[in-house]
Amino acid sequence: MMKTPLSVQHLFEYATTYFPDQVIVARHAHGVHRYTYREFGERTRRLSQALMSLGVGIGDRVGTFLWNDREHLESYFAIPTMGAVLHTINIRLAPNQIAYIINHAEDRVLIVDRALWPVLAPLREQFVTVKAIILTGELPESDPADTLDYETLIKSATPLARYPDLDEASPMGMCYTSATTGNPKGVVYSHRGIYLHSLTLGLANTMAIGMSDSVLPIVPMFHVNAWGVPFASLWFGSKIVLPGPAPTPTELLQLLNDEKVTVAAGVPTVWLGLARELDAHPTPLALRLAVCGGSAAPESLIRRFEEHYHIPFLHAYGMTETGPIASTARLKTHHISLDYPRQLGIKATQGFLVPGLSIQLMRDGAILPWDGHEFGEMCIRGPWIADEYFRDERSRDTFIDGWLHTGDVASIDPDGYIHIVDRTKDVIKSGGEWISSVDLENALMAHPAVFEAAVVGVPHPKWDERPLAFVVLKSGERCTKEDLIALLADKFARWQWPDDVLFVDEIPKTSVGKFLKRTLREQYQNYFTSV
Ligand code: AMP
Repeated sequence: MMKTPLSVQHLFEYATTYFPDQVIVARHAHGVHRYTYREFGERTRRLSQALMSLGVGIGDRVGTFLWNDREHLESYFAIPTMGAVLHTINIRLAPNQIAYIINHAEDRVLIVDRALWPVLAPLREQFVTVKAIILTGELPESDPADTLDYETLIKSATPLARYPDLDEASPMGMCYTSATTGNPKGVVYSHRGIYLHSLTLGLANTMAIGMSDSVLPIVPMFHVNAWGVPFASLWFGSKIVLPGPAPTPTELLQLLNDEKVTVAAGVPTVWLGLARELDAHPTPLALRLAVCGGSAAPESLIRRFEEHYHIPFLHAYGMTETGPIASTARLKTHHISLDYPRQLGIKATQGFLVPGLSIQLMRDGAILPWDGHEFGEMCIRGPWIADEYFRDERSRDTFIDGWLHTGDVASIDPDGYIHIVDRTKDVIKSGGEWISSVDLENALMAHPAVFEAAVVGVPHPKWDERPLAFVVLKSGERCTKEDLIALLADKFARWQWPDDVLFVDEIPKTSVGKFLKRTLREQYQNYFTSV
């Protein structure tokens, strides 16, 4: 059979050929913008041409610093179709990490929302490889020096007529993921990987995204390509609804209602916020699937959606390194006759692997059986699983003998359903974003009065987990919570600071002297009882 390269070029050409009248709706600061795939296609081709005129070539990285808006969707296709690499930058990272990843990825051009420019402006002098900065959004009276306006560029460029031939293994995108400690690690996505991952999102066993759907990616487009949802939705001709800058639950509910959204994807914190909003303002919705991932979806949340609002809920698991969708918790045929509480138990697992991937459980070098009891680290492989971190020596700790070691500890039952029980990586996930406990501990221990410090993620009703710090002071020394927080202010974004600092006499330790964080997590699991 033919070896036609699997490339994002095909997604774009197919979508704009077959669904020119389909609609994209993008919420912005003053309302919504509505346009067709036809217009989107024309603007996207112009953006490709404009980037080429700026000297962007095959393999060059173009960074985006944007919300889920139409310029981001245009960048999603304009950059990879011309052979460049779409580097989505997490706007919530601390400034030093943002500067690091822009330099490490060697971004040549940045596309930045004007409203987010104040985050990047103080870092500008540190950018080593950036040759041009393009600003999106409403044109102000004056722009920062040496920046370009997105709309002006698009208007003056001619649509790119012919795309370069690309090898399917060539990079189309990249996304940095937080490490246990130190700088974030870059994951590179290939055209082939994203093509196959996108196909997967159309399968009935997963999200079944198709041309009769109206799809709302709430998960940020700077977070693993919004789980690949924009690529699949456009390819399959769905109406795409983009929530724009920092949407509140009220604004999301309005979009869900106004645009008759059928599939939406977000982290548990988002669905929790929407549940509160739905309780306050009961609204019949067209949602046929609430996709939830990024952290474990609590059973109570799934039940609330399915029983109270009659919205089917799909729990999914993945990571930046897995493209991200690796598994979904769909019921199998023999589960249909079970009572709802038992079905709920299955829906709250991380589900079973999507077709195309393989998994094994490993502990101490041994492969464990799928008996639902033995637990070990999940190792995954397949065509959309990364095989290294971009120019990073830490690759060898994670990619071993052809398997991605996920750092997630799970059991797998005889039906293949994954039950995650713990993480080997010492990180806290709050509202879908990572916080390194080790980095916080190191920063706290830099205070001269601190003898030792441990930070753990404690369950939180709104954010899934929040950091809680435990500090032992040196004998005779004093310092306050405020002194310690002041120490973190420079290095960490505000939302990464611990919610509380508890001064204790000692921190429980293992026999080899490591902090026994699991004990702390258990003892303090009810610390944040109410929002
Ligand atoms: P990220 O690379 O930021 O997308 O984070 C990936 C990590 O988030 C995984 O390795 C898990 O630790 C966690 N995660 C993602 N989805 C789930 C889920 N459905 N249940 C539990 N943990 C999850």
